[in-house]
Amino acid sequence: MPWRARNHRAEAEVKTREQQRQRARPTAQQRGYDYVWSLFSQRWLRTHPICGEQYDGTISDQYSACARAGVLAPAEVTDHILSMAKGGEKYDPHNLQSLCRACNSLKMRQYES
Ligand SMILES: [Zn+2]
Repeated sequence: MPWRARNHRAEAEVKTREQQRQRARPTAQQRGYDYVWSLFSQRWLRTHPICGEQYDGTISDQYSACARAGVLAPAEVTDHILSMAKGGEKYDPHNLQSLCRACNSLKMRQYES
């Protein structure tokens, strides 16, 4: 079926564009996520284990779809609310929050592209 064939090609093109975007992005190390950050982040996630959790233990639903849905999901990422690329402070607790991977990806697609 021709429509199906075209659709598959479109999906392949989307994949290729995503791969190009990933290649163009600096590495985690180049973006400032070094060994010290990884230790800091692990400690942050132990004390702020919920998706949407802020420095003071409150849960914000601004960037957490989990919190918006009323779900307490385990956080996997220490997120800079304002990214370092946009001048956000790396270790300022007021600029940090915990997110699950899905919410972190969503935030990057919505706010940092
Ligand atoms: Zn989440």
